[in-house]
Amino acid sequence: MKKISIKRRKLHILISAGPTKEAVDPVRYLSNHSSGKMGYALAEAAVKKGCGVTLVSGPTALKAPRGVCLVSVTTALEMRRALLGHFQKADVIFMVAAVADYRVAKIAQQKIKKKSETLTLRLIKNPDILSELGRRKKPHQILVGFAAETNKHLSHARKKLHTKNLDWIVLNDVADQKIGFGSDDNAVTLLSRTGEKIIFKKQSKKKLAGKIIREIMS
Ligand code: C5P
Repeated sequence: MKKISIKRRKLHILISAGPTKEAVDPVRYLSNHSSGKMGYALAEAAVKKGCGVTLVSGPTALKAPRGVCLVSVTTALEMRRALLGHFQKADVIFMVAAVADYRVAKIAQQKIKKKSETLTLRLIKNPDILSELGRRKKPHQILVGFAAETNKHLSHARKKLHTKNLDWIVLNDVADQKIGFGSDDNAVTLLSRTGEKIIFKKQSKKKLAGKIIREIMS
């Protein structure tokens, strides 16, 4: 299983967190329920471990943990640019953000008026940032993806682990409203590329973050 030693030197950790917001017109946007809590908890845990941490965050209501270098973004394209800019110097990358898979093809310059009974928005696919990082990854870098699944959890997560060239994937069941999106708690399964499967029972995202960091960076 691919791990990284924190005794070697000061490690640089790059974390994406929160949702992205994709504008529809000057007053509306498409987004998702990500609160950023899991990514911010990982950032805090990594600082506590003595790492240098860059947190690329979509819009959230959270305060950046002390000692973290915060890069605030709004859209998926902005998040991509920020992550690519910080990727090279990172030893471990946690892609926790719920990046929008689609954006509006043509953002209206004026507020869209409610006229017709139906309204069709044409969406275009955003780049899959995680896959792009997987293609650029150097052998010394550890790339960790997150998978929010509602069904066939394990098989979907394993497929992502391999197709996106990840070293680890953290799987959480977003169909369970007591954990995951917005909640202070989470229960996850950590899968490694080499077949390890570690189950973490429901606990606070802060506790969980410390355990995930410890598992990957010993
Ligand atoms: O394939 P799926 O989008 O479900 O994978 C989730 C993972 O992919 C998360 O780690 C998320 O940060 C990342 N992702 C991304 N770019 C997107 C969508 C998701 O990097 N456009």
